[in-house]
Order: sequence, then structure tokens, then C-alpha cells
Amino acid sequence: MTQSQESINQVSKEVTVCTKCRLSETRQHAVPGEGSVESKVVFVGEAPGEQEDVQGRPFVGAAGKLLTELLASIGLRREDVYITNIVKCRPPKNRPPRIAETSSCMPYLQRQLSLIAPKVICPMGNSAIHSLMASEKSVTDLHGIPFEMGNVTYFPMYHPAAALYTFQLRRVLEEDFKKLRALLDSLSS
Ligand code: URA
Ligand code: SF4
Repeated sequence: MTQSQESINQVSKEVTVCTKCRLSETRQHAVPGEGSVESKVVFVGEAPGEQEDVQGRPFVGAAGKLLTELLASIGLRREDVYITNIVKCRPPKNRPPRIAETSSCMPYLQRQLSLIAPKVICPMGNSAIHSLMASEKSVTDLHGIPFEMGNVTYFPMYHPAAALYTFQLRRVLEEDFKKLRALLDSLSS
């Protein structure tokens, strides 16, 4: 096992037993994230939902099914990329994470990102965009536009759950995934 793999397993282990914020009191399982530590791209959602809380795995409910299909549409398997969330435990009734929860949890995401050192980070939805990019702008304005910061290119997208509520957004997501494919291809050459 590589050192990065061991270290990312260590982060996951710590998340699993974390009690740094009150979401630990209501969760069934913390959801550290999963995928390849060698991935060039990391997808970051908001927080685990009901299914994720039950299974301890990210994006395994309806939004996750769509994410898996979108990945497949550009030739990626879930296990080829890394998938995680801003906050690792489910907020009760899926309410948005609070600032205190996000700031308690952020060091885990920062460690994951520095171990994976991806070329591209895809924040999905406003929570992830606002937490990861120094921007107050909405996903409506930012989606599908690469934004370079330091050594990383941010590629904001709609959250796949948004496309479950607003069907037209599915097309937008499909187009943005095609743009992401082109971006990844341009970086690997
Ligand atoms: N929505 C998210 O933001 N993350 C998940 O893991 C599942 C649904
Ligand atoms: Fe710990 Fe993050 Fe879960 Fe809060 S949300 S208990 S900080 S892992």
C-alpha cells in the first residue's frame, strides 16, 4: 500500500469515530468518502443524505445514481475518482450544514485534498462552491467554467440532486461533464 493510501485510510478512520461537532450525535454512520487516492479529480458534495448515512458511503442514493451515470458518460468509474462531501455526517432531515459544522469538518477535507493532490476539484452545488472557492456567487453563474487557484483548477457544477428536481438541469450537467472530460484530457497531455 502506498503512503498516500495509508494516510487516506487514516483520515477515514478518524472521521468514522469523530465527535468534533454535534452531527455525530444524530448520525448512523459517518461518510468519509471513497475512491482512488491517485485520481486527478475529486468530486465534493454537500453532506451525506439518508442512504449515505445508512451505508457509510458517499452518493449511494438517487443523486448518487445520477452521479455514477454522469461519470460513466465520460468514461470514468466511481473507483477511478475520489468522491466526498464538505461535511462527513448527515444533518438531521438533510438541512444544510451550519457554519460551525462545516468549519469543524473542513480539516478532514483539506487533508484528503492534500493527500490526493488532484489537478481538478469539482464542487457540486452552492454549499461546496461557497466552502471551497472564495466566492459568494451562485452555481448558476459559475457552473462549467474552470477557475484556477494555486495549482488546482476548480470546476464547479450543479449538484446532481438539483437535476432530480429540475429536469432541464440534467442536460446542463451532461454538457458540463463533457467539458470536464475535455479539461481532464487537456491536463494529462
Ligand atoms: N448529496 C450529497 O451532497 N452528498 C452525498 O453523499 C449524497 C447526496
Ligand atoms: Fe466530525 Fe465532520 Fe462528523 Fe462533525 S460532521 S462529527 S466534524 S466528521
